[in-house]
Formats: sequence, C-alpha cells, structure tokens
Amino acid sequence: MGKKSDIELIVGGLRKDKRLPEQTREIKMKVGNIVSANGSAEVSFGNTIALSSVHGPRELFPRHLQESQTGILRVRYNMAPFSVDDRKSPGPDRRSVEISKVIRLALEPAIFLDDYPKVTVDGFVEVIQADGSTRVTGINALSLALASAGIPMKDLVTACSVGKINGTLIVDLNGEEDNNSESDVAVAIMPTSNLVTLLQMDGVLTKEELMHLLDLAKKTCKDIHEMQRNVLLEKYKGEE
Ligand code: UDP
Repeated sequence: MGKKSDIELIVGGLRKDKRLPEQTREIKMKVGNIVSANGSAEVSFGNTIALSSVHGPRELFPRHLQESQTGILRVRYNMAPFSVDDRKSPGPDRRSVEISKVIRLALEPAIFLDDYPKVTVDGFVEVIQADGSTRVTGINALSLALASAGIPMKDLVTACSVGKINGTLIVDLNGEEDNNSESDVAVAIMPTSNLVTLLQMDGVLTKEELMHLLDLAKKTCKDIHEMQRNVLLEKYKGEE
C-alpha cells in the first residue's frame, strides 16, 4: 500500500474489472433481512458483502459501564474466516479492533444517543465476502441497520473509498486495487448535514489530488445516500 505499483491496473482508460476510474462497482442494499435483530441491513459493493445487525437500545450491563446522561454505541466489525481466499484466522485482531472503533466514531455523530441514558445500542458488522473497502461497506450497512432499528438519527452516514492507482484517481477500490494502490482513502459523510465523520488515508498524494478525491467521494456518497434513502422508503413505506 502506498507504493507505486508495477502492476497494470488501468489499461486503455479502464480498470481490470472494466470500470471507469470514477465508477463504483455494482452496489446492492437490503434492509430488515435479519428478523431476530431490532434492525439489520446487507450492503454489497461488487464482491464485498457486509451484513449488519443492531440490537437495542437495551439496558447496559454491567451497570458500571452505564453513562448516566447518555446512551452508548458499541460496534463490532468482524471479517469471517471464509471472506477471503487465504482463510483469515477467526476472532478479533488489531485490525478488526481498530476498524470497529473507526466505524463507531463514524456513526456516533449521527445518533441521538442523549435520548437513551444508561443504555447501549449494539451494532455488528460481519463481512462475509471481502474484496476491498470493507470498512466503508460496513458503515453504509450499519447506518441502514440503525435507521431500520428506528434509532433516532440526525442523518444517515454514507461512506466510500477513493484512491490512486497507476497515477489515476479512482473511486471504490477493490481488493487488488487496494493492495497495489499508491494511496487509498476511506471517507464517511453525513450528507444532509455536510459533515465528514471519517477520513483515513494511506499512501502519498498531493494536496490537490486529495482535494479532488474528497470531491469525488462527496459526489459518490450523494448517490449512495440516495440509494440508502430509497431502500428504507421502499421497505418501510406504509408502516406505522
Ligand atoms: N484483506 C485480506 N485479509 C485480511 C485483511 C484484509 O485479504 O486479513 C483484504 C480485503 O480484501 C480487504 C482489503 O484487504 O478489503 C483491504 O483491507 P484494509 O485493511 O485496507 O481495509 P478495508 O479497505 O477492507 O476497509
């Protein structure tokens, strides 16, 4: 990551999976698919698939973890052992602990946690197929799952990855592109409030390239936000 790659990832203006530089993979979204959860969603970007479930708001035990003035959001991100070709060893590791934290921090600003003193909202992100950009796929899924659980939110949180491969600025890195990128940037946005809630960059970019990528991320997130809104409206229209 972050090094100039000798691998030809762009030929004749197209990426290896035939996408234009600024094109995402096919995005699919479902909500309410896990009936035992208070809220749930599945989001895929091409071959990357994240399932998310939300449980709560529920009383937090042990009690000493409770916050008297506010509720808390807990997030667990996990990549299934079968989600990548080289089997990933099961259980938490440093990467999953870090990604769980950044997903939580990306979503917290969108939730009215003050309405729920002493309780927890537990969000799970399970990556069942990983082909790059899993954290942003997970953020989109968890945002939908929170909304489908009826948790009061200021805004949906919408996320995508952008980056640079073979000297070209691109949107939505797949696994091979991520492994061979000169830079990759994960961005989460609250589109209506125009707030950035996650910005993580690996590799090297000029300031101009970074600003251009943020612009591309903003445009891409606008489209993803529209899809999120539509899938929620479609699922819950007509319900009390
Ligand atoms: N990956 C993998 N095995 C691992 C961790 C990651 O094959 O144990 C792959 C997977 O395709 C993932 C990509 O590397 O999407 C990039 O991982 P990164 O840590 O940059 O986070 P992500 O882009 O998934 O948010």
